[in-house]
Amino acid sequence: MKIAVLGTGSVGPAVAAAFSGLGHDVVIGTRDPQATLARTGPGATGGPAFSQWHASHPQIGVVTLAEAAAAGDVVVNATNGTASLEALAAAGAENLAGKIVIDIANPLDFSKGFPPALNPVNDDSLGEQIQRAFPEAKVVKTLNTMTNSVMVDPMHVAGGDHTVFVSGNDAGAKGEVTQLLKALGHTDVLDLGDITTARGAEMILPLWLRIWGALGTGEFNFKVAR
Ligand code: NAP
Repeated sequence: MKIAVLGTGSVGPAVAAAFSGLGHDVVIGTRDPQATLARTGPGATGGPAFSQWHASHPQIGVVTLAEAAAAGDVVVNATNGTASLEALAAAGAENLAGKIVIDIANPLDFSKGFPPALNPVNDDSLGEQIQRAFPEAKVVKTLNTMTNSVMVDPMHVAGGDHTVFVSGNDAGAKGEVTQLLKALGHTDVLDLGDITTARGAEMILPLWLRIWGALGTGEFNFKVAR
């Protein structure tokens, strides 16, 4: 499968490498490929510089947001949540039409420091905003409720005995995304319902952040015991 991952922070490279490792044909989209490939400073969360990461994943092309979205059968939104609508607009509605858009972003607003506010919240969500802005895309919100290392290697936390949520309007798209999640090692994929249920998945973030603070690590996940 051709997978376009939009985002060059912590999540984009992690997800791109994982899907590439599973044999998919993966490209990464960024605003300015030359500038991104020239980055030598450490990643935002202390990971390797993008240039260093790319040197060890040369099979993953680094292209513009529009070139990536055009190339992908599935498009992953791993951009900053405050800029995702802008990033997806740059990717091009015509390049998203008819495709599954896996939305991992959280609309966290750090403008007033920590803890961040969620915007939108309560009666709307970023997942819904993206679906409204790109009505021909099949948006599936997932993976946003865990740190990137757990997204791509769920087995290293409690042997994988925890839950990943999916929200979206298109049952077929959620089915395909569920297969991708299972290929990554996720065992408990819980379908919350249509894209409005992304509100719940996004509003768990304030709790996620407080658990991270209490434990001093992001290496955990939620399990819906039932
Ligand atoms: P991030 O720093 O939140 O986002 C970096 C990406 O956002 C870059 O690719 C950057 O583009 C893009 N971006 C920023 N401003 C932009 C703008 N004005 N227009 C277009 N693109 C813009 O990186 P992250 O930590 O990897 O997180 C990615 C998303 O996943 C976020 O929404 C975050 O909330 C969510 N998330 C993160 C984690 C995690 O483990 N970090 C876990 C769950 C969910 P360039 O490539 O052009 O610089």
